[in-house]
Amino acid sequence: MIQLLFNVSPDLFAEYRAPILEALRRRNIEAQTALAGDMPPEAVDYIIHATGGPVVDFSVFTKARAVLSLWAGVEKIVGNATLTQPLCRMVEDGLRRGMVEWVTGHVLRAHLGTDLYVREKPLTWARHVPPLATERSVTVLGLGELGSAAATTLAHLGFRVTGWARRGREIAGMRCLAGADRLPEALAAAEILVSILPETPDTIDLLNAERLALLPRGAFILNAGRGSLVDDDALVAALDSGNVAHATLDVFRTEPLPADHPFWSHSGVTISPHVAAATRVSSAADAIAENVARSESGAPLLHVVDRTRSY
Ligand code: NAP
Repeated sequence: MIQLLFNVSPDLFAEYRAPILEALRRRNIEAQTALAGDMPPEAVDYIIHATGGPVVDFSVFTKARAVLSLWAGVEKIVGNATLTQPLCRMVEDGLRRGMVEWVTGHVLRAHLGTDLYVREKPLTWARHVPPLATERSVTVLGLGELGSAAATTLAHLGFRVTGWARRGREIAGMRCLAGADRLPEALAAAEILVSILPETPDTIDLLNAERLALLPRGAFILNAGRGSLVDDDALVAALDSGNVAHATLDVFRTEPLPADHPFWSHSGVTISPHVAAATRVSSAADAIAENVARSESGAPLLHVVDRTRSY
């Protein structure tokens, strides 16, 4: 019988407890569960974690074999010096599918100029025929679990996709660039720029005034990574100058986005409330159970965060 501690809110505990237990049972693993504070720390085998959970000192969990995040982004916990156990981030099909759908929907909205017809009634009967996807360049920043899936779908639709990441790779149907010195090239190709990067010391303020100025004039920006990737003031200035035509933002430095933030009133900004990709309970429970089962059988954990890189 393993002991699972949930370092999450009571609501998330109620939502995830039964599906995780069920997914473990399917793997012949029985578990006892408790919310943080309700289990002696030295008894805990695994910690299920979500941002906002009450535990901040992980050093007391002397036999815990892993901390398993319910979320893909780990920027709030990765720097915790008391956390010496392996930290695994969430990788699951629901997240991936959600991100692919959100990115594809908003890229197509920008590409087709859909807003023109949503806003304008009666229509000026002028035919603004959009280019085909094969004539449109899209750059995806971040080619991890989510970015590579989104970029691949865009490539399948025919877009001319450039992907950018830290390390070089080959992905069918697109050009992949790697490293800081190739970022200007990736930005210069971005009629539509999609950011799905994690927040790390290297990515904060990545899209600052200098980098936004490298985009083709009239570019569209989608940010589904983290709000801190974008310099908000620089983005507003780029929108005001017309260098950026529109920004669709799902993530913000402060969430919920404060009521007095200039993004709310800017006609060039679409705001979505951090819904691009949500962890889906059933597939996430399976991902957690799979990692526990692997660990119990002596197999290496999946999706372990590299603390030297912060993602
Ligand atoms: P991942 O698999 O860890 O991929 C991260 C990608 O970013 C990798 O391709 C990595 O490059 C690249 N990267 C990191 N630092 C870089 C740098 N300094 N320069 C260039 N590339 C860099 O993560 P994921 O699962 O795809 O998730 C990405 C992020 O999406 C999460 O961290 C989270 O912030 C965000 N997210 C948002 C939502 C939402 O609803 N809006 C939902 C889930 C996740 P390498 O591959 O070369 O290492």
